Amino acid sequence: MQLSVEPRITSFLLKVASRCNLNCDYCYVFNNADQTWRSQPPLMSASIRRAFSQRLAEYCQYKNLENCLVIFHGGEPLLMNVNDIVQTAEWIRQAVPASTKVDFTIQTNGVLLNKEKLEKLSAGNIGISISLDGPKSANDLHRLTHKGKSSFDKTLQAYDLLKHHPDIFTGVLAVVDVRTKPKDLLDFFSGIGVSSLDFLLPDSSYNSHPPLRDENPNIYSDWLIEAFDLWINNYPHIKLRTFESLISTLLGQQSGTDFFGFGDVSLLGIETDGTYHDLDVLKITKEGQSHLGMNIISHSILEASLSPKVHLHRKLLSFDGLCNTCKECSVVEVCGGGSVPHRFNGEDFDNPTIYCQEMLTLIPHVQKVLTHLLNTDEEIVTLPNKKNLDVDVDVLNYNTASNNNIDFKKIYNLWGEKSTQQFSSALEYVAQRVPEYSGVVKKIQSASEENFRRISILPSVHLWATVTLNNKKNMLLFDLDEKPVHFEPSYLIHIENHFLSFLDDTFLVHQDDPWLRLPFGSKIHFEDPMFLEEGKKVLYESLEIIKDYNPSLLEEMKLISPVIQFIRDPAAHPDKLVSFSDNVVPGALYVCMRQGSDLADPYDIADSLIHEYRHQKLYLLEHYGPVIVSDFPYVESPWRDEKRPVSGLYHGVFVFHELEKYWRYLSNHPTAIASKAKNTNLASRSMLEEGIETLTSCQLTDMGDVLLKHFSHVLREA
Ligand code: SF4
Ligand code: SF4
Repeated sequence: MQLSVEPRITSFLLKVASRCNLNCDYCYVFNNADQTWRSQPPLMSASIRRAFSQRLAEYCQYKNLENCLVIFHGGEPLLMNVNDIVQTAEWIRQAVPASTKVDFTIQTNGVLLNKEKLEKLSAGNIGISISLDGPKSANDLHRLTHKGKSSFDKTLQAYDLLKHHPDIFTGVLAVVDVRTKPKDLLDFFSGIGVSSLDFLLPDSSYNSHPPLRDENPNIYSDWLIEAFDLWINNYPHIKLRTFESLISTLLGQQSGTDFFGFGDVSLLGIETDGTYHDLDVLKITKEGQSHLGMNIISHSILEASLSPKVHLHRKLLSFDGLCNTCKECSVVEVCGGGSVPHRFNGEDFDNPTIYCQEMLTLIPHVQKVLTHLLNTDEEIVTLPNKKNLDVDVDVLNYNTASNNNIDFKKIYNLWGEKSTQQFSSALEYVAQRVPEYSGVVKKIQSASEENFRRISILPSVHLWATVTLNNKKNMLLFDLDEKPVHFEPSYLIHIENHFLSFLDDTFLVHQDDPWLRLPFGSKIHFEDPMFLEEGKKVLYESLEIIKDYNPSLLEEMKLISPVIQFIRDPAAHPDKLVSFSDNVVPGALYVCMRQGSDLADPYDIADSLIHEYRHQKLYLLEHYGPVIVSDFPYVESPWRDEKRPVSGLYHGVFVFHELEKYWRYLSNHPTAIASKAKNTNLASRSMLEEGIETLTSCQLTDMGDVLLKHFSHVLREA
């Protein structure tokens, strides 16, 4: 589990006009599902623009934004008096903190742009981007006035004027019509000297398919491939953002557009009436889809950014938010499921983009071309192929729980240093931010070096320090119920009362510690505190079993997993013994002690403890070097019904490598457990073999490779 942080909004679409002097037939504002423009005031009033400048200032301060972008948008923004636009930019510049640099651009069809307006915009340092679909024959297919007349000549005149102001000219936006050949388009733009260009595919969804594609299914794939090849070979002087962002994503960098890769919501819109909106293009889906239900007068930008719709949108931009088809797709890491509005099917976004087939042909093609151009035998992949440990450690030795294992100690000590630094910084922040806690901060700081380090490494303290330092950066974290986990300086009293005198090296069992529950919201049930004594009896039996199996393993467990919490899962099958651990609270093992209404068998509880400790041991290693190159595509796992990310399967193999040994050891035990152990060992072996086999065809790092071969060898020799 990952705690999610609140979004960081850095771009603002300020809709200063809600009407347009053109009537482009593909326009998502006027000629699509959402018709809310009709009830919007034609122009944004001065009071809304002033309110925006104040809201933006407050947000920049809160987020410590160094840069942000305000885009004057519409409709056609030049329907507003240009003096008012310049004035708005000035209000914003005056309002925001001196540490924030705000860039401004205007997205215009250019028809109303003249020399005088251009000079005013230039003097106001407002960049200009023009919408133009290509030569007259292409532009006239869609970009017409309300009377059906061409807008081409006027837009071209604006473009000619702009050529004399390269300082503020930010580029051209062109919507593709596949009836215009890529060569004609690129020739035209190159001929008029465009240096920065965006090709946009017509906004479509399962409700309204891309024009002409139903008649000719390959028409967009062929067009895109032809355009890419032409561009890379003959027009590399044009900065073509669409293809450049595809290449960036293929090389494992940020895509820069929502068309490829994964990302986060970083843009909000503000309509002329001051209402907040999510991505504008969502207007193609249904009436009101982009509306966040809040207004600039009554709500802050932060509140708007935390609205449920933005939350859903953020999820859709991540792997977890994709439909199952995308999750299993071989190019998912580059495609990212495509633009969110293009996934809409009339009800939801749980679908591949309507441009899926284009993605499936364009991405491998570009991958091939790049591989050839870069003259490399290795296929271009999205992450560096063979990343190794950042520290000099023998991973095979690290994997083994043995007496005085120097490689394990090296990693453990690094983790200790990191946690100590983090906790120290969090304490300093509290002392400075909430002076009434400076006394308790001092007390904790005066703990012995050894005890301070031991406290820092406790799972709950680690989480508390993470949340505290995020608060310093004005970032909120959310629990599994998607509720914020708040900064809580009063937790220092708990630390003072419970951990300052804690010096021995035994486990902390089933504590009443809120920070061990916080990340999981209401999703996890904890045993009643009354269960403590009963639970402890069986727990200590289990720890004895582990000690007999491998005393060094128990010693390691005490170091990296010092906390054991008793949980319950009322929904679990009575035969199933539930347990989990999570990197958000590193070192806490959450274990169920009952099967049905009876106490569980201590041998099975020992299995759960070893299981979770092995997850923790691998997490620890992964802080200093990955074992896999990529999580995608998801793979079959013998331990789950659904497909898993490659890292999830690797964790399974890492865990069951030890458990196979544990049950093998017990199968030779001179007690009644031996016969159950034989069966359990047999079952673990076959699943382990299957897991190892699947991983051999996945992309692993050198370290992951070495460990996997070792697991396979141990299994063969057993
Ligand atoms: S110029 Fe822009 S806002 Fe106006 S109709 Fe065309 S696409 Fe829509
Ligand atoms: S190519 Fe299609 S299936 Fe694959 S991730 Fe993209 S939209 Fe999903």
